[in-house]
Amino acid sequence: MLTADISPQAMQIAIALRSMLDLLLPRYCCGCGRRLALDEKAICQVCLTNIPHFYVEDSFRAASVEDLAIHPAIGYMGAYASYRRKNLTANIVHSLKYYRNPEAGIVMGQMAARARLREGIFDGVDMLVPIPITWRRRMQRGYNQAELIARGISKVTGVPVRTDIMRRRRHTESQTHFEFHERMERQTGIFEFARGGHEAVSGKCVMLIDDVITTTATMRAATSVLLTGKDTIVRWFAWAWTT
Ligand SMILES: [Zn+2]
Repeated sequence: MLTADISPQAMQIAIALRSMLDLLLPRYCCGCGRRLALDEKAICQVCLTNIPHFYVEDSFRAASVEDLAIHPAIGYMGAYASYRRKNLTANIVHSLKYYRNPEAGIVMGQMAARARLREGIFDGVDMLVPIPITWRRRMQRGYNQAELIARGISKVTGVPVRTDIMRRRRHTESQTHFEFHERMERQTGIFEFARGGHEAVSGKCVMLIDDVITTTATMRAATSVLLTGKDTIVRWFAWAWTT
């Protein structure tokens, strides 16, 4: 067969080209900084096996009293990895946010979805809605990191990503130095439905996606907008959650 003769050659050429490209533009693991092997994408095998997982019981520990109060309306709150200051998870998220590494976002979404698929958390979800960032922040970063993670999840689950549901009115800087109530006040009204967003979520199950949940104030602010939809169900899923 002609194709059988050609395919291995074409494959060899492709491998040679990739090796050459890798030599010219070496890629590094966004977790540990080591050089990636040809068959590795964004995160090396060692880091992949070492990422600390976030478990269901962690969400009850990590959630605030206010989160638990709205938990019945939400149904699912979870994450893939456990985030702590300067741990491996933090390195990976930092790399995604500040080192123009869009490929990492897709890979992160895919790995999280594969890991959680069997738990059924994506069953019945109609759309993945990444937490929006302001256009100014998007210009600076070149992408919305939550959207990339959502796109990775979508590749595995087939659930569509919707970026036309909500808008962010303004960006809020790191919230950690504010008191809780002040934080909530500052978050109120930062999100609003985009045109047609309210109708689009009515009767639907929406999964809100973010890269990291720290105080949950952002997730709650977005949820309060979504829950004004008629019979809308909201679930939370982040790549990482502070534990
Ligand atoms: Zn690594």
